[in-house]
Amino acid sequence: MDLPEIKIFDNLSNEKKAFVPIEPGKVKMYVCGVTVYDLTHIGHARVFIFFDVVQRFLREVGYDVKYVRNHTDVDDKIISRAAELGEDPLALSQRFIDELDSDMGRLGVANADVEPKVSTHIPQIVSMTETLIEKGLAYEKGGDVYYRVRSFEGYGKLSGRKLSDMEAGRSGRVDEPTEKEYPFDFALWKSAKEGEISWDSPWGKGRPGWHIECSAMAGEHLGHNFDIHGGGRDLIFPHHENEIAQSEGTHECSFSNYWMHVGMVNTAELDSDGNKIERKMSKSLGNFWTTRDVLKGYHPDAIRLFMHTSQYSKPITYAEENLEEATLRTAYFYETLSRIDETLERGGIAKNQTVDAGELMPEFSDTISNFSDNFIMALSDDFNTPKAIAVLGEVAKIGNEITQSKKKPKPDAMRTMYEVKKCMAQAGRSLGILEREPNQALIELRDLRVNILNLDPKMIESKIAERNAARANKDWALGDTIRDELDALGVEIMDGSDGTTWRIKFG
Ligand SMILES: [Zn+2]
Repeated sequence: MDLPEIKIFDNLSNEKKAFVPIEPGKVKMYVCGVTVYDLTHIGHARVFIFFDVVQRFLREVGYDVKYVRNHTDVDDKIISRAAELGEDPLALSQRFIDELDSDMGRLGVANADVEPKVSTHIPQIVSMTETLIEKGLAYEKGGDVYYRVRSFEGYGKLSGRKLSDMEAGRSGRVDEPTEKEYPFDFALWKSAKEGEISWDSPWGKGRPGWHIECSAMAGEHLGHNFDIHGGGRDLIFPHHENEIAQSEGTHECSFSNYWMHVGMVNTAELDSDGNKIERKMSKSLGNFWTTRDVLKGYHPDAIRLFMHTSQYSKPITYAEENLEEATLRTAYFYETLSRIDETLERGGIAKNQTVDAGELMPEFSDTISNFSDNFIMALSDDFNTPKAIAVLGEVAKIGNEITQSKKKPKPDAMRTMYEVKKCMAQAGRSLGILEREPNQALIELRDLRVNILNLDPKMIESKIAERNAARANKDWALGDTIRDELDALGVEIMDGSDGTTWRIKFG
C-alpha cells in the first residue's frame, strides 16, 4: 500500500510541513501522559483521544507505529496526596494509573505500546543528569541539581520566549529564597525531605524533577531523535521547552522532528448579567469535569465525536448543547447502520455476508468511490477531524436515504448500502467511533438518555402494557392517547412482529 502524503503543523518551526519519518514506513511518537494522583479530567481525555486517532490513522494507512506515553508516578502532588491519605506514593499512583486505564478504555483509547513510569527509569534519569553536569549544562547545589538554561543556546525556541523578556517580566517581584544561579534554571534532581520517597544518587538521596523524566524515557524507548512529540498546549512552556534543553543538551542532536499540541477545553458559562462567557476549565475555579462524570451522561462515541468536531490545536468548548449535538449525531450514525443491516436482511443478505458484485446506484457512485481517498486526505491534512467527519456524513446520508424506502431493495441499492457500511467502518476505525454493534449502541444511547431525561423505564413499560391492553380491547382512542403521552416525553414506540419496543427519539 502506498503511504499517503501527510502534513503536520509543527509547533517548533511554526509551519505545516510534509511528514517525513526518520525511517521510511515507521513512526516513533512520544506523548506526555498524566501525573497520576487523581482521576483524569476531560482535558486529559481530549489529548488522549486525539493521539489515539493519530496512532489509529497512521496504522490504518500502513505505518508501523511505536507509541510511547508516560505516567508521572513520582511528583510533589503525588507525595503530598499520599501523605494526606497515609498511603504509599507508588501505591497511590498505581491506583490512579488503573483508574486512568479504565476511563480511557471506556472511551476506546487504546493503551500505548510502551507506558513507562518515572519510578522504573531512575538510572536513566541519573545518568542523563550526570552527563548534563559534565557538559556544564547543569550544576549541583546542596543535593539539588539544576539545569543552567543560559548555557543552552536554543532555550526558548519552541515557546518563542526569550530569557531577556522573562527577566523583564519578573522584575520588581519578591524572590523566593533559592540556591539557583539564575531564576529560570529548573530542577533536574531534588534532594529528599525527611520521610519522602527517594532514590540514591551521586548527589545524595532524592528524586527527579518533573521535566527530566520525559527526556530520559523518550530517549530510552525511542532513541535520541524521533518523529513526533505531543501533549497538551499547556506543556509547551516550560515542560517541552525544558525537554528540548535536556535532550538536545545531552545528545547534541535534534530531539523530536515534529511537535504537536492539543488545545485546551473551555467551559461555557453565564456571567452575573446572564451573558454567555467561556472560561478555561480549572480545578481551582470549580468548573471542572472528570472523564468519569462525563461518561455518566454521554456515550463514549458521542464524547469522541464532540472532540472530533474541532481542529485539535484549537480550544474546544465543553457545553451541554455541544455534547447533545454530538449525541444526536452518534445516534443518527448508529440508526443508519442499524437500518442498513435491517434493509440488507430484507434483501436476503445476512449481517456478515458480503455484497461485492454489481453496480452502485449511479447517483451515489462518485461519493462512494471517492470516499476512502477523501477521508484519508482529510486526516492527512494535519489530522483534520472536522473535515473527516464531514466526509463520513456524506456517505451516512446516502445510507439514510436508501433505507427510508420500505420496498424490497434493488440489487444496486443493496450494493450501495453495503459499500456505505464499509466506508463508515473505515472512518470508525481511524476515529475510534461506530465500532459497536449498532443495536447495542442504540440501547446504550437510550439508557443514557433515560437517565438524563429522568425517565423511569418501568413507567414506560407499564404505559406500553396499558396501551397494548387498550388495543386488544379495540379501544384505539385510548391506545393513541397513551402513544401521544409517551411521545411528549420523547419516547417513541414501535410495534413489530416480536411485540412493542421503545426508543428515545433523537432529534
Ligand atoms: Zn512530558
